Amino acid sequence: MWDTKPGEADWQKLVDRILSADTILLVAHVEPDGDALGSVLALGLGLRSLGRRVVVSYPEMELVAGIPRLPRTLRWIPGQDLLVPPGEVPDDADLAISCDASSEDRVGELIGPMRSAGVLAVLDHHPSYTGFGDLSLVDPDAPAAAVLVLELLDLLGVELTREIAECIYAGVSTDTGSFRFGSTTAETHELAARLHRAGIAHDRISAELYDTRSLAEQRLLGLTLLRAMLETVELDSGGSLRFVWSHVTAADRGELGLGTESAEPLIGVLRRTMEADMAAVIKEQTEGDWRVSLRSRGGMDVGSLAFELGGGGHRLAAGYPAHGALVDVVAGLRAALTRRRTDDVPH
Ligand code: AMP
Ligand code: MN
Ligand code: MN
Repeated sequence: MWDTKPGEADWQKLVDRILSADTILLVAHVEPDGDALGSVLALGLGLRSLGRRVVVSYPEMELVAGIPRLPRTLRWIPGQDLLVPPGEVPDDADLAISCDASSEDRVGELIGPMRSAGVLAVLDHHPSYTGFGDLSLVDPDAPAAAVLVLELLDLLGVELTREIAECIYAGVSTDTGSFRFGSTTAETHELAARLHRAGIAHDRISAELYDTRSLAEQRLLGLTLLRAMLETVELDSGGSLRFVWSHVTAADRGELGLGTESAEPLIGVLRRTMEADMAAVIKEQTEGDWRVSLRSRGGMDVGSLAFELGGGGHRLAAGYPAHGALVDVVAGLRAALTRRRTDDVPH
């Protein structure tokens, strides 16, 4: 687990690299969330204001009529004109910076152009960070990667415009669960106050992020919740397997005309189940190819569980990829949970 916080000298190294770079490549993790996208776009807008040539990308970018198709909750985000599909990214950038990606597999096909750039820097806050960068600005105590981005922009003397502030807010708000999670500190609220002063439309942003769902998305939520509560609930009051889980297949989404991102909010709802130590949503991306989201209510460390299963994340929020039949994915999760429950789960 990564526990080396960046010091002044580490930041200075990155600042020097930025100031001497002409072309800078910024990369977010696959299926970017508010923090990944908010971080790279805030940094992109800031570096562009300093006269750098900035290219922003993320793996497996889906294009509709040549325009990146962002998750609906993030379609309002400023700076989208910076986005370039992975295939059009230059392989001779002077500097590459990834944001919110804890390992190489999270940047997918972009690892090529990132490795061929002069230097590869990593801005991240996952304890499961693997150390894949030449320069690592990784602070597991930061509530969001976007907080580190703002720190960097301040060091560079970039003016905090409303657009940049809205991107940072997307990152901090989503990764702290709207300032509810334990990672939120007095400094986080002070940072939010600064973003408010920069003129962000926080009410409109929150409505887009949390309070806007299509009927089809509401139906998917209903289906998933019903499945968890009536069919696949795995709550054992004896205390052996205190987790609640559900799944979403590609066919479920297909019938409702929904993309993979529509399954992202489901875990937040399942995690409310007070009798469970852990919630899991097993999401089929394409046939037989799954992503598992894990959330803890505090008693257990799902980050290390996900790491053991080939993924990563934080103590209370983590995920991993899985392949094969659903029953085997569930069996794998249950086996890993059984192995460690005696260590972690208080009874
Ligand atoms: P999610 O359930 O996808 O919202 O992910 C929860 C947390 O776990 C986020 O901080 C992710 O960055 C992290 N995470 C999810 N999947 C992976 C993975 N395959 N590898 C590393 N970290 C992951
Ligand atoms: Mn993320
Ligand atoms: Mn993050």
